[in-house]
Amino acid sequence: MAFTVKFWGVRGSIACPSPNHVVYGGNTSCVEVIAGERHIILDAGTGIRNLGQRVIQEGIQSSVLLLTHTHWDHINGFPFFAPLFQKNRTFDIYAGHLYDTGGVQSVLASSMSNPMFPVPLEALQATLRFHDFRAGEDLELGPDVRVRTVLLNHPNGATGYRIEYDGRAVCYVTDTEHVPGELDETVLGLIAGADLVIYDCTYTDAEYPSHVGWGHSTWQQGVRLCREAAVKRLAIFHHDPDHDDTFMAELEDEARRTWEATFVAREGMQITVGA
Ligand SMILES: [Zn+2]
Ligand SMILES: [Zn+2]
Repeated sequence: MAFTVKFWGVRGSIACPSPNHVVYGGNTSCVEVIAGERHIILDAGTGIRNLGQRVIQEGIQSSVLLLTHTHWDHINGFPFFAPLFQKNRTFDIYAGHLYDTGGVQSVLASSMSNPMFPVPLEALQATLRFHDFRAGEDLELGPDVRVRTVLLNHPNGATGYRIEYDGRAVCYVTDTEHVPGELDETVLGLIAGADLVIYDCTYTDAEYPSHVGWGHSTWQQGVRLCREAAVKRLAIFHHDPDHDDTFMAELEDEARRTWEATFVAREGMQITVGA
């Protein structure tokens, strides 16, 4: 029973293609999760464009898109996700932070509206079903895939996800800000005992004090949370575009010395949950 994660975009804030961002990748947030028969996409950053080619090649007819929130780096790839322009495909699009403020359909529509974008949401050929929920509610994605959600500490709100399948769990916790010296009880509850946690590690602890209130966390805080919650592996994610390959390699070295169950997510990396 397949339960895999593939990283298609690992950056935060803005895409950063450059010769110094080749090893870890320059596309913004997009993670593919295959849970048995279920095809799940976490966020629609610029990384979703390349995923679109795979969806078409492999003939995947139906996918679930779980949005953490609708800041640009998490939706900018949406209008460039080629399967949306094809009939006979179905996408269920979920967001947990817009229930009381107009809903995800209207937010995506406005992001694709004149004069910001030439192709309106209504022109997409695929069948789109929009689902607004309140972060904290559970989602049922078929009989064997359970999704728990929480509201994260982020400007305009963001949703953290825990996907459970076949007795295993992967959590996607971005974007979120911590309070130094404290462990976020909401995050601890979500990630408890998970096989893999993908966490907002935009900054280092040394950088954080000059970014208070920006809505992001650090890899050191990710390690503290995951150890406390008996998580098996931590994926460092949502890399700052200012962190080039040299910086990230040093960061990865230090993180692994701190906790060997840690790794830095790279574009194109695929792993089996619980392996
Ligand atoms: Zn972000
Ligand atoms: Zn954000």
